[in-house]
This record gives sequence, C-alpha cells and structure tokens, in this order.
Amino acid sequence: MPEQMDSYDVVVVGGGNAGHSAALSAAERGRRVLLLEKGVRGEHGGNSFYTAGAMRVTHGDVGSVRDLVDDDDRLDTTVLPAYTREDYLADMERVTGGANDAELTARLVEDSEPTMRWLKGHGLRFRLMYERQAYLSERGDDEGRFVFWGGLALGSTGGGKGLVEQHEAAAARAGVEVRYGCAATELVAEDVRVTGLRYTDAAGVAGELRAESVILAAGGFEADAAMRRGHLGEGWQRAKVRGTPLNTGDMLRAALAIGAEAYGDWSTCHSVAWDAGADDVGDREVTNQLTRGGYPLGIVVNRDGKRFLDEGADFRNYTYAKYGAQILAQPGGVAYQIFDATTRPMLRSEEYDAAGTSVVSADSVEKLAAALGLDEASLATTVREFNAAIDRSVPFDAAVKDGRRADVEPPKSNWSLPVETAPYYAFPVTCGITFTFGGLRADTNGRVLRESGAPIDGLFVCGEMLGGLFSGNYPGGTGLVSGAVFGRRAGSLA
Ligand SMILES: Cc1cc2nc3c(=O)[nH]c(=O)nc-3n(C[C@H](O)[C@H](O)[C@H](O)COP(=O)(O)OP(=O)(O)OC[C@H]3O[C@@H](n4cnc5c(N)ncnc54)[C@H](O)[C@@H]3O)c2cc1C
Repeated sequence: MPEQMDSYDVVVVGGGNAGHSAALSAAERGRRVLLLEKGVRGEHGGNSFYTAGAMRVTHGDVGSVRDLVDDDDRLDTTVLPAYTREDYLADMERVTGGANDAELTARLVEDSEPTMRWLKGHGLRFRLMYERQAYLSERGDDEGRFVFWGGLALGSTGGGKGLVEQHEAAAARAGVEVRYGCAATELVAEDVRVTGLRYTDAAGVAGELRAESVILAAGGFEADAAMRRGHLGEGWQRAKVRGTPLNTGDMLRAALAIGAEAYGDWSTCHSVAWDAGADDVGDREVTNQLTRGGYPLGIVVNRDGKRFLDEGADFRNYTYAKYGAQILAQPGGVAYQIFDATTRPMLRSEEYDAAGTSVVSADSVEKLAAALGLDEASLATTVREFNAAIDRSVPFDAAVKDGRRADVEPPKSNWSLPVETAPYYAFPVTCGITFTFGGLRADTNGRVLRESGAPIDGLFVCGEMLGGLFSGNYPGGTGLVSGAVFGRRAGSLA
C-alpha cells in the first residue's frame, strides 16, 4: 500500500451523465470530489456522449417548460400535451411488463422534472426536440402548429455531445477534480464498509485512493462480448455496440465481489435496429444517426424475405429498444427495412440520408430482392400479401396510433401504408446493443444493498449500473433521466 494515499470525501467512478450528476450533487454540498473516467479525453463521456440527449420527464403544457428550455421562435405555436406522473408510471409498467421496481420507478418519475431544473441551475441546457418528436399539423384547430407526440419532448441542447460538454463545465465550476484515462479496478472494503478503490491510470500505473464514499456510475456490461454471451445468451457476442467500448462491466464485477446484490433483469438489454454496415463499436462522429427508427412507416423482412414483427405495434419510442433482439434472432442476425417512393421521403433525414448509410434501391420488388441476395418470389409474396391485407378505409395519421391495420401474420397494427410505388428501398439492419438492464440492488438513494437487504456502507450506484428499472423493453429517453435522478440522490448523501 502506498505510504501517502490520496484521500477524498467522495470518489465517483464513471464520467457519463450519471457520474457527473452525482459528482455535482456531492460537490454542491461542499464535499471534496474526485471523478475517475476510464476514457482518455476524446474517448470520454460514456454512452451519454453518443445519445440524442432525449429526456423523458413529466411536464404540463408548453407554458410549464418555457423557463426550462432554450428560447425558440416556435414555442408560441407549439402544442405540448401534458405528460403526467400517471402517464410516466403507466409507460414504465407497460413496456417492462410490470417487471420494473415500483419504488425506484416512483422516485424516477417524481424527481424527473425537478432534477432537470436542478441541472439547469448548474448551467446545463435543454430544448424541445421538434425534429424528432413533433409534427407540423395540417388539420383542424392545430393547423400550422407544432404538435408533440409520444410523451417525450425534452432534450439536451447539443444532444449527447452538448450534454457531456456542459457537464464538464459544470463540474469545473463546482470544483470537481476529474482524472481521465483512469480505470477503477477494485473496491477496497474494511470490515463492512467501502473505504476506497484501486485504479490504473492512463500511463498504466496502478494506485489506490481512500474515500469516505464511492459512487459507481461506470455503465453496464454491453461492451464486453463474453459477458453479453454469458448473460444475454448465445449470439449476443456478435451484436454491434452502439456507444462506448469502455462499459465492460468492471465495476459490476467489483461490487459483486464485495457482496453487493445483483438486481434487475440481467438477461435482457436495450437494443435497436442499427445500420448493418456500422463498425463494431460506436462512432463518435455520427453517434446515434446509425439508428434506423423509421420502421413504423414500412415493413421489415428477414433474410428469407418474411416479416417477423409488428412494425406498427406502438410509437417508435415504445418499441425500438426491444426490436434489436428480434433482429439478432433472425437468420444471420440481419433484417431489411423496406420502403417505397411514397414512404421514403417521410423518413427522418438525420437517420436515413447521412453519407455512408447502407441502402439498396430498385425499380421493382423482385429486383430489390435480387440486389439484396434474397429469394425474389418470397419477398414479392410478402409485399403482395401485406398490401392486400391493409384496411384502407382507415386514414393514415402518423401523429396518433391510427389503427390502420394490415391483417396479415404477423399483423401490422398501425400506420400500414402499401409498398407499391417504385422505386423501392431496403435498409439492411442488424442488432445494435445500447445498454444492459441488469445491475446492482440499491435503495432509492442509490445506497448499494447486500442480499440481506443491509446497505454496504460507503457504496452508492446510479445510471446503467442501477438494476431494477427496465426489463425486455424501455421507454425512450429514460436512461439519461434515471442517471441524473439517482446520481443526484446518491451525491446528496455520499
Ligand atoms: C447511440 C445511443 C443513443 C442513446 N440515446 C439516448 C437518448 O436519447 N436518451 C436517453 O435517455 N438515453 C439514450 N441512450 C442511453 C444512455 O446513453 C444511457 O442510458 C446513459 O447515458 C447512461 O449513463 P451512465 O452515466 O450510466 O453511463 P455512461 O454514459 O456510459 O457512462 C459510464 C462511464 O463509465 C466509464 N467507465 C467504465 N468503466 C470504468 C472504470 N472501470 N473506471 C472508470 N470509469 C469507467 C466509461 O468510460 C463511461 O464514461 C443512448 C445510448 C446510445 C449508445
């Protein structure tokens, strides 16, 4: 053991949104805070850096968020339907099939809006996400107004990149010391309490720190292929990682090794339809633009030319996080999102028009199949049967669940538009893993618990590492808010 060991009141492990929120919260109480981030500068910021910055918080109408968001000329002509606590609670329960921890969820929902105001007080900035979550109404009283849908309206200014930059500035103002390129390796526990940790710095030199409290915010195990295969199952080692390559479960293993209880669903994760030609780990330039979230407007087929999921089961925000796993389960772990000349222009430009997007087009469905190496007759049959099964008496409306079904197997429940006008487009997609749902058990203040239910003194957890909130699926925009809420709470006690 080094003779003169550095000592802090609070050491935070992980410099994403959760870790920074925890560090800020502890520092504003006058605690001496050190934040260790595994990534060197330029690789830092965790998955938080790669996000679109979408944040699911409760809110009332547009007047209720005016003082929270950046000024925008469109605010005066914006219709923002309220998103209540009851809505948020119901969404969490519905998408997780009731597997969400009720106490953690209640705290998440209750604190969501006040925590955004607290971050704003520290200089972080927010905006309404017109480009992703609103449409310009052409009908009735709302004609010419921007109408928000799907309960998700708020985002960080500058997306994930802006969020991390603003967190770093806030940390500097609050006096948080940050060491980049410094990976925590083990927790040090004496008797029944955590007293510090061991780490390896950017030069590969090992060291040890003492701390009154350690807050773990080091992400899940999504970037570790062996852990993915072990916990999520065979095949998951081949999933592409959407974000940072550095979330390899280090601190999950370290905490379990000193008696923390594993909690939540370790066998499922957040995973999406992701450009099949993407690199194996996230791209810091294009970040989340490799997501392919336009499938509710088209159909998705596998390598056999067959549909295998309900593209219109719900708004994208409520299905995208579970469809990656369904793509991985298809032959070869690939699928093709198919659109025609009518639906192609309706796709979000940010996701479908970027340079390097994998796409094939042809002037007939058969030629499209041939270009993709699929059986021509099989794809043509799928498209023909789908088109014939659409209930065309129901008008299409992208802003609501319009009930425009295609009664085919599997059914498409909403937004069924025929694939019938050349040229046809296919976007090859694969499974991109976002983050893992399994984590540590903690109380609503982020205190890590043992199997006995007793807290491990001096040890806190937040962000992706906190288990119990999600299972099988996830409502879009909840990850960042969970990190901020429970990071802030952990930092207020640590
Ligand atoms: C492409 C993409 C888009 C997304 N979009 C959204 C969105 O719009 N809205 C939303 O709510 N969520 C989104 N998410 C999910 C979101 O990123 C996470 O829920 C959230 O960022 C998790 O925050 P965190 O602080 O727990 O983890 P991270 O931000 O991943 O931070 C963990 C940090 O810990 C560090 N670390 C790991 N191991 C160690 C160690 N041993 N020692 C020291 N440091 C360590 C890592 O380097 C990393 O910086 C998206 C994710 C991705 C990948």
